Amino acid sequence: MTSTPTSVSSEGSINPKDILDPVVLQDLETHQKFMQCAIDTAEEALRGGETPVACVLVHGGKVVARGMNDTNRSLNGTRHAEFLAIAQFLEQFPPTEMKNTDLYVTVEPCIMCASALRQYGICTVYYGCGNDRFGGNGSVLSVHSDQSLDPGYPSYGGVYRKEAIMLLRRFYIQENENAPNPRAKGNRELKTVV
Ligand SMILES: [Zn+2]
Repeated sequence: MTSTPTSVSSEGSINPKDILDPVVLQDLETHQKFMQCAIDTAEEALRGGETPVACVLVHGGKVVARGMNDTNRSLNGTRHAEFLAIAQFLEQFPPTEMKNTDLYVTVEPCIMCASALRQYGICTVYYGCGNDRFGGNGSVLSVHSDQSLDPGYPSYGGVYRKEAIMLLRRFYIQENENAPNPRAKGNRELKTVV
């Protein structure tokens, strides 16, 4: 028996963001296994002082490429996890194999990455939590499914959503505490309700 796909908030109601698509539920264990690889990679990013966002590319039932955010270290705003994973993938496979490849990423791809994934013809995207500021898979724009572009890709959120959010919270708390002039924020405690 796999863990329960939904969770009950402190108020007793189910957060709609925790309701997984039936397509995901069909093979939840597999999706959790690959998302766990992305979460583990994001943990590595956090330990290295990077924004903990990471992904893996899965081809033929195996993780063939990984990427973690690298924008802080490189001061290069295009070095998102997805771009690094795509580069690693292309060292091993021709671009046409992207159509047989799924992406598992801890945070919904941003508009830039969503567009790159579409241009490379990714098969399916699974993400943990949504990206309310920059999300390109439905939160801000729907780059993955916009009818006016090339064929799109299906995208499913919610697998390990809470774990993905907690990683980000841990990072931002650490950032605040390391800031040279920490802003007087009343509450730097880690919120554990997501
Ligand atoms: Zn991105």
